[in-house]
Amino acid sequence: MTPRTQIVVGLTSLALSAGLAIVRDRLPEHTGNVITDAPRRLADVLLPRDSDVISSVVPNGATVAGMLGKHLLPESELSALVQAVSSNFDVRKLRAGNIYKIDRLFDGRIRSFEYEIDPTRALRASRREGDIAFEAEVVELPRTTTQVVVEGRIDRGAPSISESLERAGERLDLALAMADIFSGEVDFNSGLQPGDSYRLVVEKSVRDDGLFVGYGPVRAAEFVNDGRTLAAMRFTFPDGKSGYFDTEGRSLKRFFLKTPLKFEPRITSRFSRSRMHPVLKYARAHNGVDYGAPTGAPVVSVSNGTVSFAGWTNGGGRTVRVRHTSGYESEYMHLSAIAPGISPGARVGQGELLGSVGQTGLASGPHLHYGLRRNGQYVNPITEHQNLPPGEPVPAVLKAAFEAERDTLFSAMRQPARVLHTNEN
Ligand SMILES: [Zn+2]
Repeated sequence: MTPRTQIVVGLTSLALSAGLAIVRDRLPEHTGNVITDAPRRLADVLLPRDSDVISSVVPNGATVAGMLGKHLLPESELSALVQAVSSNFDVRKLRAGNIYKIDRLFDGRIRSFEYEIDPTRALRASRREGDIAFEAEVVELPRTTTQVVVEGRIDRGAPSISESLERAGERLDLALAMADIFSGEVDFNSGLQPGDSYRLVVEKSVRDDGLFVGYGPVRAAEFVNDGRTLAAMRFTFPDGKSGYFDTEGRSLKRFFLKTPLKFEPRITSRFSRSRMHPVLKYARAHNGVDYGAPTGAPVVSVSNGTVSFAGWTNGGGRTVRVRHTSGYESEYMHLSAIAPGISPGARVGQGELLGSVGQTGLASGPHLHYGLRRNGQYVNPITEHQNLPPGEPVPAVLKAAFEAERDTLFSAMRQPARVLHTNEN
């Protein structure tokens, strides 16, 4: 249908629809340039449309004017719209691939424009009553948050957590969350067994048009690994801080993370008082553990502390050292880059980014050399990390509140019902 015939049909429909309320519903997702002109049905009355909606995606390198200009809008409309959009939104943040919609009257004037900033927000520009100018605002897109139970199983069809989540219709985010929660207990890279299973309670937000928005924090999780059952729940303190605890109220946060890398990495060389050096070709002590990891993988601090060294060392290449309490100092070598702000004296938190994996210094390939000193002496980080006591427990005054919440969450997790409760935002 050409624009001209549309206008004719539109004017006729406008006449037919006089006196009827115009009802529009949300459009389905479109990725191409789609013009919707089908009549809408409401309560057995056929409502002809008085406008058409152009739905399209932001092209690469587009400006607002360029993007809207290709729809042949009247010049005065175009400049008014561009002005409204630019004054309410940083147009440099226009992202290629995001959806926008123009609701256009059949006489060519624009009724409204909407651009999806991200899955939760849109920029909406509407015409002010009887005015040439548009009013633009950032609006929250309607979505529903539902608390759900997700369960999965490791077997031949799904040998990893991410594959079993995919089979359950869920996403990788939950695998990362579980790896974070249980990182001190389960080796998610090589320690999974066929028959391992998990259940978790999490909030999931889905937009009213069906688009997945995101998960909230995992509220409770249970992981059966190699016959033992691990459980964790998130507990929020009165001051708003929260953490993961086992069912007895012991913190799952250890003094040291299991490793300085995000996913349980492959150990390529262990701590040794004497080993054949792969580059130097003679035996000497290996004062740490080597983890095979791709160049650029994030390296994080294993515990809270203060940076004691950040720079170049002979053999170690780009190196960061962090001093912790109880006489410990951790050491990260062969980095391709040191993170901004990581310099001697800087305070770092557990899990904070120090740099990225590389192969600077004496290294035969990209890997992280991780060392740990206690009172100045190198110790085996693997056994040292394992020997440290579990984290702080929930304080006695909060124990009753903790136990009540635990019982609610874990009984919910065992219900056959998958949807626990729903909130409209
Ligand atoms: Zn090494």
